[in-house]
Amino acid sequence: MHTIEADYLVVGAGAMGMAFLDTLVSETDASVVVVDRNDAPGGHWTAAYPFVRLHQPSVFYGVNSLRLGRDSIDQAGWNKGLYELATAGEVCAYYDHVMRQRLVPTERVRYFPMSEYRGAGRFVTLAGAEYTVDVARRIVDATYMRVMVPAMRPPSYRVAPGIDCVPPNDLPGRGAHERYVVVGAGKTGIDTCLWLLGHGVAPDRLTWIMPRDSWLLDRAMMQPGETFADRIKAGFIAQLRAIRDATSPDDLFARLEDAGTLLRIDAAVPPTMYRCATVTQAELGQLRRIGDVVRKGHLLAIENDKMILEGGDVAMDGRALYIDCTADGAEKRPATAIFEPGRITLQSVRGCQQIFSASLIAHVEAAYPDDATRNELCVPLPHPDTDLDWLRIALADYANQLRWFDDPDLTAWLSGSRLDLFGHLVGQLLPPASAKPRVRERILGVAKTVLSATASKLDELVVASLAAQGD
Ligand SMILES: Cc1cc2nc3c(=O)[nH]c(=O)nc-3n(C[C@H](O)[C@H](O)[C@H](O)COP(=O)(O)OP(=O)(O)OC[C@H]3O[C@@H](n4cnc5c(N)ncnc54)[C@H](O)[C@@H]3O)c2cc1C
Repeated sequence: MHTIEADYLVVGAGAMGMAFLDTLVSETDASVVVVDRNDAPGGHWTAAYPFVRLHQPSVFYGVNSLRLGRDSIDQAGWNKGLYELATAGEVCAYYDHVMRQRLVPTERVRYFPMSEYRGAGRFVTLAGAEYTVDVARRIVDATYMRVMVPAMRPPSYRVAPGIDCVPPNDLPGRGAHERYVVVGAGKTGIDTCLWLLGHGVAPDRLTWIMPRDSWLLDRAMMQPGETFADRIKAGFIAQLRAIRDATSPDDLFARLEDAGTLLRIDAAVPPTMYRCATVTQAELGQLRRIGDVVRKGHLLAIENDKMILEGGDVAMDGRALYIDCTADGAEKRPATAIFEPGRITLQSVRGCQQIFSASLIAHVEAAYPDDATRNELCVPLPHPDTDLDWLRIALADYANQLRWFDDPDLTAWLSGSRLDLFGHLVGQLLPPASAKPRVRERILGVAKTVLSATASKLDELVVASLAAQGD
């Protein structure tokens, strides 16, 4: 058994662990041991399907200290006119570079890949060497999000022998099939349908199992820079107005849809799911070409002649390729205190912005003196799952933002954080840092009043909705 000393032990070198580590190393002189069971940093990206891309512009992803991508705007494809989306390969190469060329050379970071964490500061390497880390400050759990992609586990439904059912990772290698059944309608299912359509597969050769319809976000509304500033500002104001004028959650969703904040695949089906999936208008147009959408709940079994779903059977001729897109990418985990004695549990403090959140948590760890203050600034927000979670996330986002506005140092840090997508949207409403302090103060005051009124209204809507459900 080896004993090594470090200020921090970070368990997990996925996207959150890396974002935390980068900010911690940039803002402190701490020493860190990082342990991960994979052979390379990047977490779930190392097991991703080959055609996955980031769902939001590369510029908001990665670690704070190093830009990801080249800030280019796509000139072709269904993301045309919008900022580039890194591929899984680019994301993995980026994290490898950050770890090996930037963090490890500081000599304050010791990285142990292929090592299994056993709890209580202990881990074991592939070679069987056992280590105990004598941690001076904290153990950082960067595994709490429990990200799961289809390639990491078998399908949760029964598959009869002889049925061809693969994770999306295997799709490019399987050649042509007469019929494709895409199981699952989250972002992975969407990506898989788009990949097939993008390769010219006619929509009538696709069957799409959609247990729940989802509200989707328009990627055009989450773009950086001047080119998009007016559109984003108008969209954000429209969202605030929709919340202000809504008379019920249903009315709010109708208004958000009118404002272009939320999109859906079928105008006739009310979505009950919201998981922050993004699409462009062009992608939405493609998805709407698929006519054979099966809305009979979850798939329970695939047999030779039929699929058995919660809501009934669907006859099949057995020659289809089934693509399992059902893994719960980011599950809705219970919120837990982020800062505890000797421990940090990384979670989102901005809706669906795990990476930015991990960086902010590292900054708060470095810059604030006590855990009570730290936890007050970092209120965790579970990943969304249902339509009502859109309201909960928006409410929590506004509440966190209001707390951060009250802290000028933190506000200054946020304005320099490239990972802060929501801050970029809010920032469109604020004058630039170069504006006169009095002007900035006045406009900040107005923004706080508006956000506060918006948060109160969202609170009312959430309470009304829970009351209606008898919750
Ligand atoms: C397909 C997909 C696309 C996404 N696209 C975007 C996007 O465009 N923008 C965005 O902001 N977010 C996106 N996300 C979400 C975001 O990337 C993830 O939520 C985030 O990466 C979570 O990363 P993580 O570090 O928490 O988890 P993981 O990536 O799962 O990392 C956890 C790490 O911990 C390690 N580990 C776990 N247990 C142990 C143990 N006992 N011992 C040793 N090591 C252990 C694992 O090996 C893993 O490397 C996407 C998510 C998915 C699934």
